[in-house]
Amino acid sequence: MKVLVTGGAGFIGSHIVDSYLATGYEVVVVDDLSSGNRDNLNASAKFYKMDIRSPELMEVFERERPDFVNHLAAQVNVRLSTVKPLIDADVNVKGTLNVLECARTYSTSHLIYSSTGGAVYGDPNYLPCDEEHAIQPLSQYGVSKYAAELYILAYFRLFGINYTVLRYSNVYGPRQDPRGEAGVVAKFIGSMLKGNQPTIYGDGNQQRDFLYVGDCARANMLAQSAKICGIFNISTGTGTKIEELFVRIRGITHYQGDPKYVAAKQGEVLNSSLDASKAARELGWQPEISLEQGLVDTVAFIKQSESDI
Ligand code: NAD
Repeated sequence: MKVLVTGGAGFIGSHIVDSYLATGYEVVVVDDLSSGNRDNLNASAKFYKMDIRSPELMEVFERERPDFVNHLAAQVNVRLSTVKPLIDADVNVKGTLNVLECARTYSTSHLIYSSTGGAVYGDPNYLPCDEEHAIQPLSQYGVSKYAAELYILAYFRLFGINYTVLRYSNVYGPRQDPRGEAGVVAKFIGSMLKGNQPTIYGDGNQQRDFLYVGDCARANMLAQSAKICGIFNISTGTGTKIEELFVRIRGITHYQGDPKYVAAKQGEVLNSSLDASKAARELGWQPEISLEQGLVDTVAFIKQSESDI
């Protein structure tokens, strides 16, 4: 079986690539390296450095004929989406449409899409949000990620391309770029290891549902084997205050100082946690790595990468 992973040189995508390769799949990666990194890329994957919006993507599908696709390539910076919404929509909506057109032309059987719970549900009416929660994005990024979901559902209805939409919560772990959606973990760790004062946007009481990247990659694997069309939250169901995250990382890194507080960022939701009981029931997926364990592993990874430079 051959899987094509868009965004496979990125933080989450590269872990998904590793998991598929470890299970014996052939893996093809398409990534323009705009926010991903060649160092993340598993040497056993076949790599095309290409923009998902490129007409040449069709030739990749013609040559490779993937059995299924994991689509992660995206403009992932929430803040950038609020100041450059046309770029955000171009990559996240038109880019997804180009992937879908290729999948339709070459009869790809299944598309697994990495979406976002935090950004599509917006400021929650209740917590944790299940998949029935109203869609009320607070940023252009949330709109573009949801618009892509709608196209994916339309291609299922029109052309029978099976789909699994995975709405992740805030993913963290090794290889994370601090500029991404849940970059706060990588940012805090990076600053504290260097002895620099970390910044908290807002008062630190805002809550996020932090999911370890290994658990996230396992959800993509199960989405392939379960072969169920549907939309699933992938999350822990537990909100953690940014203030608490700071204290936990301070304990692990032995940083001595306090954070600096600045004004909250525009377009960011106040509190977010997602109910993943549907994924537990239908995909057999549950998170396995505790926040403490995940943070210890992430600190060890960042320490190691800095000592390798
Ligand atoms: P990332 O930036 O590490 O990964 C995105 C990858 O896509 C990068 O390798 C980048 O180079 C590539 N890319 C971007 N634009 C491209 C283009 N036009 N053509 C080809 N490749 C392109 O970010 P990530 O955090 O690993 O996010 C992966 C996916 O998961 C995204 O779709 C994101 O919306 C989704 N997601 C992430 C989180 C999170 O907490 N990190 C949460 C919810 C959803």
